[in-house]
Amino acid sequence: MNKIEIFKGNENGKSGIGIKVKDDNATLADLLAAWQPLCDDSNIYKLYGDNHFAVCKGCNTNCCNTAYVIPDIISFKKMADHKNLDHKSFISAFFDREKVKAGLLRMQPDPCVFLEENICTIYPCRSLICRFYVCTDILGTAEQLIYSLAWTGITALQVFAEENDLIDTDSKAGLSSFDLMFKKLIEEYRYKPQVKLFLAADNYEDIPLKPFLA
Ligand code: SF4
Ligand code: SF4
Repeated sequence: MNKIEIFKGNENGKSGIGIKVKDDNATLADLLAAWQPLCDDSNIYKLYGDNHFAVCKGCNTNCCNTAYVIPDIISFKKMADHKNLDHKSFISAFFDREKVKAGLLRMQPDPCVFLEENICTIYPCRSLICRFYVCTDILGTAEQLIYSLAWTGITALQVFAEENDLIDTDSKAGLSSFDLMFKKLIEEYRYKPQVKLFLAADNYEDIPLKPFLA
């Protein structure tokens, strides 16, 4: 039996993609494996996709051109390893210098520093934000689960970066209102117990979904 079911359904009068967790032992890796086919599914309506029905691979109106990506801690470590860089050098090479100085780990955008010819060059280790983003309608409960997982992982990276002197924490110079909103979100998540799960994990298999379910 699959531990996760991804379905098309309705919730409060809105239709969209939903998530059903069918096994108490399901992990974030199980959810990601079940979610991945959506990217490759040309039968679901994709708001920004070519002709609205397309696979994400090679998409011409690629969301990666404008994406605001702060990676989760697991992806961050895997991307740095993939580039054979220590964490500090990885940040210097691929993150937005101004934002890092102001304490926010945003990857270099417009287009994303890892996008080449409309293809992600670090696809197997891309972050949760990237993995979960599909430009289609998602039901509220599913959106909440995804949001909670992504921001907990991002907050864990922030804590890790602060503890290891990878970013400054005091300055707010150079931050837009958008950036400040993200910093506020990170502060909201900072003391949630689930952050420790991400801090202790090496892989998405190590993150149980149960503590994230409402
Ligand atoms: S999610 Fe991004 S890559 Fe996929 S169809 Fe939408 S805009 Fe294109
Ligand atoms: S890391 Fe990859 S998937 Fe994520 S925004 Fe960049 S190019 Fe796109």
